[in-house]
Amino acid sequence: MALIVQKYGGSSVANAKKILRVAQRVIKTKRAGHKVVVVVSAMGDMTDDLIALAGQINKNPEEREMDMLLSTGEQVSIALLAMAVHKLGHQAVSFTGPQVGIITDEFHSKARIQNVSAERIKKALGDGKIVIVAGFQGQTPSGEITTLGRGGSDLTAVALAVALKAKHCEIYTDVDGIYTADPRVIPEARKMSVATYDEILELASLGAKVMHSRSIEVGKKFNMPIRVRNSHKDVQGTLITKENKKMEEVVVSGVALAEDEAKITLFRVSDRPGVAAKVFQTLADANVNVDMIIQNKTQTNSTDISFTVLKHELTKALKTVKAAMKKVGATSITCDENIAKVSVVGIGMRSHSGIASKMFSTLAKHKINIDMISTSEIKISVVVAGDKGRLAARAIHRAFGLDKK
Ligand code: ASP
Ligand code: MG
Repeated sequence: MALIVQKYGGSSVANAKKILRVAQRVIKTKRAGHKVVVVVSAMGDMTDDLIALAGQINKNPEEREMDMLLSTGEQVSIALLAMAVHKLGHQAVSFTGPQVGIITDEFHSKARIQNVSAERIKKALGDGKIVIVAGFQGQTPSGEITTLGRGGSDLTAVALAVALKAKHCEIYTDVDGIYTADPRVIPEARKMSVATYDEILELASLGAKVMHSRSIEVGKKFNMPIRVRNSHKDVQGTLITKENKKMEEVVVSGVALAEDEAKITLFRVSDRPGVAAKVFQTLADANVNVDMIIQNKTQTNSTDISFTVLKHELTKALKTVKAAMKKVGATSITCDENIAKVSVVGIGMRSHSGIASKMFSTLAKHKINIDMISTSEIKISVVVAGDKGRLAARAIHRAFGLDKK
């Protein structure tokens, strides 16, 4: 008898009808001979609604009270799901995060899980019950309620799967799995049947809305297989797992497009040690996240530095860098909001060559100019003009055969 952890997101439990449907699915798994632990998120947009409600009362609520408030969303779903299972004639019991010993640090609204005892879960499973646990929450060693950051129910599910030594962790959403690209941008994108933890982490960091990153990190660390599946259909989803030889044969497994970055260029910065350090230290001090960086020596004794930041941090970044311009000897500064970043990701890049040239020649064929390039072991990103981003992503997706089975 295998133990399976299933997590259902807010859209899967958005109303009574959907909750009853989830109950049926959970019961089906139990009937197939498994022990089942279910993690649920708050119904629909309840977390957003609670945040808005708090804002009507106090623009600057204390974080402790915010966690007290937000953790109630999940408590509603677990009770209703348990009632749904009972209604269908099966045994179930619901627990909050603190009740099952999810212990976190004390950083409210972004707490990290430190330990999971799961004693009450083991006991209830032993009694033959379906166990339903509230996602996204825990408590500090001194008993304060915490939340794990937005989308944190994924993390609860993977952490419980690890603590209970589950066979795997199933994440149910309202799409069929993880796609080779965002289907809204590239309609011919396909569902991946399998991907590695590293690929999904890379895609998530590139702006593909896949899963909560920390949950993938935990899955990777403890080698817990994660299956992303559709809660409304009985189809094979995407398996996220450690890599094997066969997976390396696929050179590129996904394409990501980010349209939320802007580029800043500093001209004629002095070419001496400590200058780049100065520029990026100022940005770090202002809490601005920098993504791509390119430095290019000019003919004279100076260099040009370009880098990208999130569009919504552009004003702050410009202000910060302008204040530091004199110290680094820069002559001028420009910015460009009309950019897009297109990336290809795949663990096969480690063992195959020619990926960059194929990507660049595809862009050339479509007369798309490359503005910046950056690479990692399993990723190549380029910055192109903003209005060319979608065309570029689609052409590259096709060039690597991702539109075909
Ligand atoms: N309900 C929380 C949120 O909306 C946690 C989750 O959905 O995983 O962020
Ligand atoms: Mg949610």
